[in-house]
Amino acid sequence: MTQFTRYVCTCPMGWHPYPYCPYRQQLEPQHITPGQWRAAGILLQLEREGKLDLTPLRRPMFWWVPRALLVLAVFIALVILI
Ligand SMILES: [Zn+2]
Repeated sequence: MTQFTRYVCTCPMGWHPYPYCPYRQQLEPQHITPGQWRAAGILLQLEREGKLDLTPLRRPMFWWVPRALLVLAVFIALVILI
């Protein structure tokens, strides 16, 4: 089976093979409103001040990074051996 790049999503699908969500697109506009930018800025400000920990929110987005590096390392090892 071909391994696709998975884009983790918060919708019931969980992930998509493409960087956009067909389900969330129907529920909310794709663009980010100024209010959402302000909210994100406030959250980041709170994190910088040590009042909030956003690590649990960030972790699901980057779970694939160590695996991608591992796959890349295995691939390079195979290329060198062959
Ligand atoms: Zn989705």
